[in-house]
Amino acid sequence: MEGVRVGKRVIGAQSPVTIGWENIPKVEGGPVKQFVFTWFQPTMLLALILFWYYAPNSIAKASTAIWIGVGFKVLLLGLEWVNPRYESWRLTWKELVTDLFYVGLGFTLLRLVDKFIGDDVMIEAVQHAFHWEKLLWFGSLPLLLQAFIISFIFDFGQYWMHRGMHNWYPLWLTHSVHHYITQLNINKGAVGNPVELFLIGLGIGGFFDFLPRAALLAGTLGLAISTYQHINVRFNTPSWWRYLFNTTEHHSLHHSQDYEATRSNYAGTYIFIDRIFGTCVDGEAELLGMEGGRRMSIREQMTYPFTEGWKALKARFGGRAVNGPVPAE
Ligand SMILES: [Zn+2]
Ligand SMILES: [Zn+2]
Repeated sequence: MEGVRVGKRVIGAQSPVTIGWENIPKVEGGPVKQFVFTWFQPTMLLALILFWYYAPNSIAKASTAIWIGVGFKVLLLGLEWVNPRYESWRLTWKELVTDLFYVGLGFTLLRLVDKFIGDDVMIEAVQHAFHWEKLLWFGSLPLLLQAFIISFIFDFGQYWMHRGMHNWYPLWLTHSVHHYITQLNINKGAVGNPVELFLIGLGIGGFFDFLPRAALLAGTLGLAISTYQHINVRFNTPSWWRYLFNTTEHHSLHHSQDYEATRSNYAGTYIFIDRIFGTCVDGEAELLGMEGGRRMSIREQMTYPFTEGWKALKARFGGRAVNGPVPAE
């Protein structure tokens, strides 16, 4: 695999990274297939926006959003099966079991943790410090603009949290587990150490409860765009979409085995945030993960930040500081 290929950077022996849209393969197949995989993403986005815009109050609630989210994922699982980007990313039973473990964990544990020390407490604090009347002007903006601003604020926060995780070792320890995944599929966003999932989840939801419709629309923007970060589907995504929004191509570079490439594409939803701050790289990668693609067990995913942190502390302060005084001879 040594050597130079046009449009490819070859790092080490076997972690090629493709840079530039012009070098990325297109969907192969007849005109119907081409059409579907070109317009699927914009169509779903539009449909979801229209739904939340016009749905009567009786069904415009969080439980509906949860069911739409589940249905959407099942549909995307079907697409992954029909038109995978990489055969090497195909779902195996082993991967599926891990994914379901984390999806289940996300639904239960994180909800609980958030309830006690996350968003809910922050909402209380904000409500005490803030006078909602001062925000009434916001509610008079067009609904879609409100939704965009809400989702942008969250994604902006997530951009800096994620970038911080790649630049400050204690935060990196929590995030590194997510970078040990060796394939992308629609459930991989849930895979990671729970400490990280909590940090990323901080600030999502809650603040805009006083504008339920705008909050639901903001949530749907996140769902209909950022879901494609982790997906094993080959799309002919329209160029304007790729310019504005995060894609599986961008995120596969972020997960690649090329260290330099992982230091890019930090935004979850709006890749133009990366463009603004100079961290966007357009391209894709197939070989993912750390340490040459070593796969972690669930047990290691749970303990890794702590065991690695402990090792780092020992290395820094020496055996004595951590293990207690050296016994007298
Ligand atoms: Zn990352
Ligand atoms: Zn990821």
